[in-house]
Amino acid sequence: YAAKSGHGGGPVFATGLDDHARARLTMLEELRTGLERGELVLHYQPKVTVDADARVTGVEALVRWQHPTRGLVYPDAFLYTAESADLMGRITAVVLDLACRQSRAWLDAGLSVPVAVNLSVSDLRDPAFPEQVGELLRRYGLPITALELEVTESVLMTDADEALAQLGRLGEMGIRLAVDDYGTGYSSLSYLRVLPVDDLKLDRTFVSRCVSDPRSAAIVHSTVQLAHSLGMHIVAEGVEDADIFERLRGFGCDLAQGYGIARPQSADRITAWLLGREITQKTAA
Ligand code: C2E
Ligand code: MG
Ligand code: MG
Ligand code: MG
Repeated sequence: YAAKSGHGGGPVFATGLDDHARARLTMLEELRTGLERGELVLHYQPKVTVDADARVTGVEALVRWQHPTRGLVYPDAFLYTAESADLMGRITAVVLDLACRQSRAWLDAGLSVPVAVNLSVSDLRDPAFPEQVGELLRRYGLPITALELEVTESVLMTDADEALAQLGRLGEMGIRLAVDDYGTGYSSLSYLRVLPVDDLKLDRTFVSRCVSDPRSAAIVHSTVQLAHSLGMHIVAEGVEDADIFERLRGFGCDLAQGYGIARPQSADRITAWLLGREITQKTAA
């Protein structure tokens, strides 16, 4: 018995694993039901130009799960499990549909707001994906510029050749593409040579420190120059205050996103925010 329980923690450890596995199964079951019941919602976070106008160029759609008892669940708490159970394809389909529906509603209200959607590994592997995107845009009567797509470095590095080919197809359709969380992966420089994307979204670990830490500042500044010499634009993530924004302006950074500009918010709240800015900018002009 003593040998079986190992360092005195054997059975407890085993129970712990069971609990973990059970929690995972419960979550997946609830997620499948939640997908059917339409429990996924999108929050939207704007991107603005890094200049005096700070003009809105679009919003990023960020998924949340409105759980019947747990409240609003954030993506970091369920996307990994969803991916491991092959549910990401369905989640992307739901997110794309919600994003296109919202973009349509904004267009109908006289606002042109491109929506960026985050992709997962399975989307880049699915040969039917580009056609499904085209079909969706047609169904909502949206121009190709209404939708943008983001992929993280880690997504790109799984099956790099396949991922590149799929990105190429999406890019040829005219969809604006971005590498997300740029600078946190491993093969940044080798794939920059061949990557068919328009934007690099520089990860917030560098951006949020670019006033306080000279090394982060050097990384941000030189990445802006690198992107520009490759014909790409830089989107700075994690712009948490006005000092960072001003510093980015000095670096010639193109676009900014972060809590200091606006937090991700529900469609209603972000619509009010967008309309408020329209009025301010028209009054200023
Ligand atoms: P991401 O695409 O890099 O999205 C930005 C995340 O950083 C968001 O967290 C946002 O709330 C947060 N953020 C934005 N500005 C700031 C800032 O100034 N400071 C700080 N500290 N954080 C900031 P969120 O919404 O929890 O999303 C986390 C990640 O989950 C996303 O990172 C993205 O990789 C993934 N994700 C979200 N929605 C989807 C989706 O629909 N599909 C897929 N495949 N992934 C998604
Ligand atoms: Mg993103
Ligand atoms: Mg990001
Ligand atoms: Mg990030």
